[in-house]
Amino acid sequence: MPTKPIMITREPRGTQPSAPRSTPVWQQALAGAIRDPDTLLQRLGLAPDAIPGMQAAHQLFRTRVPESYLARMRPGDAHDPLLLQALPRGEETHEQPGFTSDPVGDHDALVAPGLVHKYHGRVLLLTTGACAIHCRYCFRREFDYADHSPARDDWNAALAYIAGRPEIHEVILSGGDPLALSDQRLARLAERLADIPQLQRLRIHTRLPVILPERVDADLLGWLGQGRLQHILVLHANHPREFAAPADQALRRLAEAGVTLLNQAVLLAGINDDIDTLAALQETGFRLGVLPYYLHQLDRTRGTAHFEVSTDRARELYRALHARLPGYLVPRLAREIPGEPGKTLLTSSPSRA
Ligand code: SF4
Repeated sequence: MPTKPIMITREPRGTQPSAPRSTPVWQQALAGAIRDPDTLLQRLGLAPDAIPGMQAAHQLFRTRVPESYLARMRPGDAHDPLLLQALPRGEETHEQPGFTSDPVGDHDALVAPGLVHKYHGRVLLLTTGACAIHCRYCFRREFDYADHSPARDDWNAALAYIAGRPEIHEVILSGGDPLALSDQRLARLAERLADIPQLQRLRIHTRLPVILPERVDADLLGWLGQGRLQHILVLHANHPREFAAPADQALRRLAEAGVTLLNQAVLLAGINDDIDTLAALQETGFRLGVLPYYLHQLDRTRGTAHFEVSTDRARELYRALHARLPGYLVPRLAREIPGEPGKTLLTSSPSRA
């Protein structure tokens, strides 16, 4: 049965198609992203009517694919693993038991506008709803950013919450994608966080350096490479071809600037659920200075059931990965279960990460 259309747009402020030439190159690239699935398929030489239900799924969660990511897709291949991550499909409109709008319990963990506190010692700031790409399996695809974000850059309540809790040592910038914000806004926020004495680390969860490598410019490297807090970038790439040029150069520049780079991937049916792809993802990333972090089981978000890989198959793949690669190249296989004190590892009996 089709779900009710909810018309998610998540436009980044200041990056609409009419962005003037004086804006940074990466914002122009973001403004020029493909925003309809017909164009996406035409650009790859594929027939738009080949994907049943595509337009209905696009109405639920709008298509977005930047040019540099499109360039890494294989023309003429409707099963290209990069295309499948971004192409709306009719399956997204089907309700499936157990698949919900907030599978990881974000709403219940909100403690101030834009601030999520689930785990000991760290909190998550939802900085923006904007992204460079709209991943069809996203667990926040229905998250109501407008209702749960602070008024423009009013982080006072969130920062007061953090400052009052000495046990919090790390802040995670999430979203959306935090690097969709301007460097001026991010640098200002980083400075305010650095003023909280007990904080030690600023972690940024981002897909932008992979999807839109233009984002890694001198302004970004400028503020990332300085400040009191240790800066950690947790990237999100699911397939080794996502690390191809021009992403490879962007990641090298980040590594050379001294930023710690980790990667988390989601195990996705038809995209990376085979041992060769998973092994190549870890090895390709490591060549660019990226260490494996998590391999996530899919969060059971409404409209994403067709991406799910069974837990048995996930464990089988993990064992194969462990047998093939050195330990430091094996990400932790995990699932997020709301209410648990950490990610639940699926590699052994109950344990937490
Ligand atoms: S970049 Fe991240 S937050 Fe944005 S749509 Fe993809 S998975 Fe979701």
